[in-house]
Amino acid sequence: MSGPQLPSDRAELFALGLKLLDKDYFIGQFCPEQGVDASDLFAKAEVFGGLMNGLKASGRFLFGMPVVSKPGPKVVIEEPDGNRREMIMFASNDYLGLSAHPEVHTAIREVVEDYGVGAGSSRVNVGYSGIHRSLEAKLAERWGQEAGLLFPTGYDAISSTIAALCGPHDRVLIDASSHSCIIDGAKRSGATVRMFRHNDSKRLEAQLKRARSKSEGAILVVVEGAYSMDGDIAPLDEFVPLVKKYGARLMVDEAHAIGVLGAHGHGAVEHFGLEAEVDLIGGTFSKSLGATGGFVVGDASVITYLNYLSSRIVFSAAFPPILAHGVSKAIDLMEADGGLRESLWANIRYFAQGFRELGLELPEVEVGAVPVRIHKDAVMVDFAADLYEAGIYAIPIVYPSVPHGRSMFRLAMQAGHTREHLDYALTVFDRLLKKYEIL
Ligand code: PMP
Repeated sequence: MSGPQLPSDRAELFALGLKLLDKDYFIGQFCPEQGVDASDLFAKAEVFGGLMNGLKASGRFLFGMPVVSKPGPKVVIEEPDGNRREMIMFASNDYLGLSAHPEVHTAIREVVEDYGVGAGSSRVNVGYSGIHRSLEAKLAERWGQEAGLLFPTGYDAISSTIAALCGPHDRVLIDASSHSCIIDGAKRSGATVRMFRHNDSKRLEAQLKRARSKSEGAILVVVEGAYSMDGDIAPLDEFVPLVKKYGARLMVDEAHAIGVLGAHGHGAVEHFGLEAEVDLIGGTFSKSLGATGGFVVGDASVITYLNYLSSRIVFSAAFPPILAHGVSKAIDLMEADGGLRESLWANIRYFAQGFRELGLELPEVEVGAVPVRIHKDAVMVDFAADLYEAGIYAIPIVYPSVPHGRSMFRLAMQAGHTREHLDYALTVFDRLLKKYEIL
């Protein structure tokens, strides 16, 4: 077959590419419309590959470029032709720079010879080590809960907890801005899933009321502590009384809040002082803690239940104990070195104010990333390519990640960004915001 007709305009091509990342749309609508042979399992992959090649050939393709240097506020990227380019990084979630922290590296070096590289099996088999055990105890104690459980990734921690706890008689109520792992876990659980408007207590209460009147089952409300795309935090002080009023349970995914919010960097629950009120707290080690892996903390009975009934625990190898040791050190550094969080916040405020002075409207930023809204979908691809040429690594956020007309750059900040990095980026943005007539 000749393959589908791809738009020749680069922006349209990118818009199509992003649309096709929705698998249901790609398989359910695009392929049938293009006459792709549905009886051949791989035919659609060929079509998809053609599209990706078209995108790459049309100009700078910013997604998934290999970083060939130490992580940090400045990195070296290797381009397809082997050329290396130094860039100021605004796309990493390593907010505190702990991935490159020498004390974390030393901690890992200390244990690698005794513990090896891999866990060897799932934790219910023999993949559980003394290091895992002490990290779980530390997480429970520091996050103010009875017990903790480690997962191979943050995605697993959140999705598998929801899927293991909820069943067809239950209801899972989730925020409209929820991360894919929350949606995935809620769907997998077989429960009835309902979304409420982002951070809207009234809509949540309406859903809670409806859930109580419609079913005898349990209700789980899942929200994120900080929404890095929306730039705001969940009003947990409003949500907690509502959840209690309707006899539901509340789980908070602190992925983007850890290291950013709270006196010790524990997240939004700590920020609001609600450790004793929230039923389950989950998070990832892949952002501020600079590693990989995830966790859930809560009541001991619930943690035991999850240990044996969560598919990601039972059927997946535990994450490497050496990393658990590195994470444990990263937690100590995050808690002890308030200066890291202070530097991060000083950078967030400075950068946000810089954009306001350029003339951009920007509400107070409550999370670790500054949302720069461009709105004009059509210019995003060229805008991002110009940023790249100027040595600024920022991924464009366009439909379907955000609705049409709400295109933006989510500029993830790091404690290690210097004023020089930020001033330079502001100068470049000033030029490009004018070039693309955003200002
Ligand atoms: N929850 C949220 C809110 C996230 O943003 C992410 C990562 N993007 C995850 C969970 C998944 O974490 P991990 O990278 O550890 O799988």
